[in-house]
Amino acid sequence: MDRRDTLKAITGGAALSLAASKEVFAQAAAAAPQPAASGRARARSGGVPALKITDIKTFMTKVDGTNMINVKVYTSEPGLYGIGCGTHAERPTIVADTVDKYLKPFLIGRNADEIEKIWQQMWIAPYWRASVDANNAMAAIDGALWDIMGKRCGVPVYDLLGGKVRNGLRMLYDVQARSPQAMDDQIRKAMAGGYDHFRIYLAGGGQTPAAGAVERSAGGGSIGRTATGEQVFDIHGNDAEYIKRLCDAFEYIRKNISWDIEIGHDVHERPSPRGAIMLAKAVEQYRPFFVEDLFAPEDIEYYKIVRAQSSIGIAMGELFVNQNEWLPLVANRYIDIIRTHISAAGGLNMARKMAHTCEFFGVTTAWHGPQNVSPVGHAVNMHIDLSIYNFGICEGKGFTDAIKELFPGCPEEVKGIRYSNDKPGLGIDLDEKVAAKFAPDGKGSNRGAQDPDGAPKRP
Ligand code: MG
Repeated sequence: MDRRDTLKAITGGAALSLAASKEVFAQAAAAAPQPAASGRARARSGGVPALKITDIKTFMTKVDGTNMINVKVYTSEPGLYGIGCGTHAERPTIVADTVDKYLKPFLIGRNADEIEKIWQQMWIAPYWRASVDANNAMAAIDGALWDIMGKRCGVPVYDLLGGKVRNGLRMLYDVQARSPQAMDDQIRKAMAGGYDHFRIYLAGGGQTPAAGAVERSAGGGSIGRTATGEQVFDIHGNDAEYIKRLCDAFEYIRKNISWDIEIGHDVHERPSPRGAIMLAKAVEQYRPFFVEDLFAPEDIEYYKIVRAQSSIGIAMGELFVNQNEWLPLVANRYIDIIRTHISAAGGLNMARKMAHTCEFFGVTTAWHGPQNVSPVGHAVNMHIDLSIYNFGICEGKGFTDAIKELFPGCPEEVKGIRYSNDKPGLGIDLDEKVAAKFAPDGKGSNRGAQDPDGAPKRP
């Protein structure tokens, strides 16, 4: 008698209600021949107990002026906990509230081994998916579960993901200067220190002037100062001036320093869409490693045009929160480098799938990794990159003494290469005693500024 006949016999051929079908499947499962013991059951009967989530705590800190949100997930195994990053520096309390008020009661008592299942449930838990706040909250939990799994198995997370493909990660060196000549010294020093991949900013780190602190430049662009007083050149209203300054910088580096280094640039979605297309064509002759965020997430259809008209490397994605934003760009081969901010996109579990998808379309990784990613988040980035074929470049800028004190086990860097400490799990922790020194002030921030004419500008 086959399975259909069995079910028919049990039900008498009647249509099944949901409750009845559950009953039928329960009976069928009970009647099925049972293996002596599954691998997991055997492992546990050999002394490894079922692992339950017993508590979840959030830690908000402010280090070097940046809000950080981390989460520890505790388990029924004494002393075994994991740590994750859900840093949304601009809206820290919303992430912390989401963890404390919604995810914690949802997850206590759950099996900590069920990383994928828990991720899928957190993804749909608020009904509306893919908000940056919900994503950061679930990413913090997800990272902690991977950390727990690694610690439990006694292996680094990169081993859980398939093992090391490479020993370390080459790093990107940011160069910020007001003139091409001023970049010269920075680039040469970094080259002597082992770096060969650079990202240049025309001035001010690509920041936007503070509201009201701007004036028109002679060329029609705007010159201003950030809230911290840094002079910033901005381009709203004058794509041509920006393109000229950028080409001047590329030309200086290629003529005076080297063609044997990689040069990228973050446009930060500032030109008009048509200006961005002109920019791509103008800098192509200097063989840019990448040009980042030519367009805002709202304008990604324009990448099709850029791809058709130039061969520049294209990097995109630090603002993406939903797979429907990056998947078309990857599947259509419109970009070369994915820049997603992992916690904002849903965490390690989402990022590993993203990375593997990208592999099949020739897209490499350069996860968003500025100072508003906690070192725990950097560790997540690193463990993925160590274990995938299509690693591109690692964004990061070392860790200050304050950061290292608060987060023992930070990734290590030697001569422009980032290394894992190869400890089980993510290999990093948050020292709760030290955290008291970095108490948060409860304040987030608001991005964006105004053009001299008062119009709001994209950040
Ligand atoms: Mg960027």
